[in-house]
Amino acid sequence: MTPTIRTVLGDLDPAELGATDSHDHLFIRSPLLPGEELDDPAAAEVVLRAFAAAGGRSFVQWTPYGMGRGADSLARLSRVTGVHVVAATGLHQAAHYDPDTLPALYDGLSERFIAELTTGLTAEPATEPPGPPGPPAAPEAPASPEAVRAGLIKVACDPGTTTAHTRRVMAAAADAHHATGAPIAVHLEPRAHPHLVLNRLHVRHGVPPHRIILGHLTRLPDVRVHRELAAEGVYFALDSPSRAGHPADHQAFDVIADLVEAGHASRLLLGADTTTRTARRADGPTELLNDLVPRLARTFGPELSGLFLTANPAAAFATDWRTP
Ligand SMILES: [Zn+2]
Repeated sequence: MTPTIRTVLGDLDPAELGATDSHDHLFIRSPLLPGEELDDPAAAEVVLRAFAAAGGRSFVQWTPYGMGRGADSLARLSRVTGVHVVAATGLHQAAHYDPDTLPALYDGLSERFIAELTTGLTAEPATEPPGPPGPPAAPEAPASPEAVRAGLIKVACDPGTTTAHTRRVMAAAADAHHATGAPIAVHLEPRAHPHLVLNRLHVRHGVPPHRIILGHLTRLPDVRVHRELAAEGVYFALDSPSRAGHPADHQAFDVIADLVEAGHASRLLLGADTTTRTARRADGPTELLNDLVPRLARTFGPELSGLFLTANPAAAFATDWRTP
């Protein structure tokens, strides 16, 4: 069987992936970021059209279940813009969910992840709209009439000690990986230790390291840790452009240089990780192509920048899909 990348419009030959924003968001909402919701399909279309005009071919959205993924818009947006879009299942940290509805989500969690990877994204819990009370809101994302399948599982680690929530979510993500082959993308916290993620997903739950993609690499500017994880086969997403100004982002080129020097250039992916309306003003996906990639090419040569932008994501997201 030939590995494919599971997009919202179907399974794609990795050779067709092209220039890829490997970690980003067209739609996302969290109670932690009130007023910063990315929830407008027209705005998402503007982002994708600009990305396509700059030469972008594929866009991987890391928004998990229950955070307003735009499930009913992704297929249309991909079709009208010509950009391949990969959607995610999974769950983020507990703080991003309504504490009243979260416990119910734990029932059948791995089954939900598997269904979203193999059958289609499912409806998310309704959210209360801001503003004066009106008639009850309809469920936010009705199960799409068009089956839109997820192509990866998004999870997150904790800033401190691993919580019961994270233990459940990572166990379910590993189950879903074993059932389907799907890659697992992980949100890292600045004070977290990525070895805890590898211990849990790989050592405890048997997920191969090359099926794990760690986001926010520059939040952990310890090159020894990067080298150890890269040697295990883990992928890293360098996802700075929409977060310009984060102190660690200034170290991104040093981090890349060290990994390249250590022979791990094949482990690096690039993303813009736009999570708020404020960040969207930075045009992350387009700047990735118009600013970051040319600078990478000048520093490391066009071959390596092409590896980070195109060949590495084609390998990281391609899967021998299984249906349990
Ligand atoms: Zn993200």
